[in-house]
Amino acid sequence: MESKRLRLLFIMLVIIVSGCTNVSNSESGKSADKPKNIILFIGDGMGVPHLQASMTVSSQPLNLERFPYSGLSKTHSADSYITDSGAAGTAIACGVKTNNGMIGVRPDGTPVSSITEIAKRNGLAAGVISTSAITHATPASFVAHNSGRGNYEEIAADFLNGTIDLFIGGGENHFRKRKDSVDLTLKLKEQGFDVVYTMEEMKKSESAKLASLLAKDHMPSVTDGRQGLLADMTRKAIETLGKNKNGFVLMIEGSMIDWAGHENNLEYLIAEMIDLDQAVGAALDFASADGNTLIVVTADHETGGLVLSGGDKSGHKVEAIFASTDHSAVMVPVFSYGPGAERFSGIHDNTFFFGEFIELLGLKKD
Ligand code: MG
Ligand code: ZN
Repeated sequence: MESKRLRLLFIMLVIIVSGCTNVSNSESGKSADKPKNIILFIGDGMGVPHLQASMTVSSQPLNLERFPYSGLSKTHSADSYITDSGAAGTAIACGVKTNNGMIGVRPDGTPVSSITEIAKRNGLAAGVISTSAITHATPASFVAHNSGRGNYEEIAADFLNGTIDLFIGGGENHFRKRKDSVDLTLKLKEQGFDVVYTMEEMKKSESAKLASLLAKDHMPSVTDGRQGLLADMTRKAIETLGKNKNGFVLMIEGSMIDWAGHENNLEYLIAEMIDLDQAVGAALDFASADGNTLIVVTADHETGGLVLSGGDKSGHKVEAIFASTDHSAVMVPVFSYGPGAERFSGIHDNTFFFGEFIELLGLKKD
């Protein structure tokens, strides 16, 4: 009797295993080891010590500790051992090294296509989220092309080039209070965008094209009242871009980790880190239920030259020294989850992400 039951169990296992093999070898559609969606998080200025300080201070494990794969990214730009966010954003978004201060262009000023633009041309949906102005260097690298990252009004105009379906962040003034007196939000509406200015309006929107300008310039910091909003913005973006059956590419930036590093303000820094981690948690919850989504978390560079000089794990306390009020040259962490995640372990250059994303999504570049 016992052996009969065992034999039955064995046969059932064989059926299950062979069933799984059939799924992964399926000739129809994409194989199960390739993602349909990619969600990329950039913690601006996030180094390993920033993460460890946050892990120590947090009373619960961070979502960033849930990732099965990790690696390191080299961050230097075309013209400097220490990068800025423009050159690093361009390397991640477009796969090319450029000079500090430039976005979406080569060092000679020639525009290069970003992963979001290429995804859009291939019929996928694309979006960017930032807690700074959406025209700021990191999100702008995925949408705009400009030799000067400070040309915010020109950069805002690039958001109308049909290369993006969704953007959420600050920067309303660059669209509406412009030197040329043009109200770009009117043109966005003509293109079918739902243009909203508050979290409440944003949550109610059912449009597949969404421009959410939540601050005149930058959004407030977590300690000034932004607590938890990035996770809500992330959930809304996933819901909106998920309407496209071909899949989507979404970049989400935690902008102010960098600013806290420049200020050498550890409390500000940890608050921004934990807030980004909550947004990562929202994406992980979606990806684990969905099964077709690759999540990659990285930074553009480290900021502050942060050193953990002491601490108390059980007391959730950390002591830190900042060696710099600027960026440093150290490698930054990479975490990945989902189909294709194993590719991102090891040490890579920051231009590496782009080619992997293109290949994993099966996109045509031209
Ligand atoms: Mg940034
Ligand atoms: Zn910075």
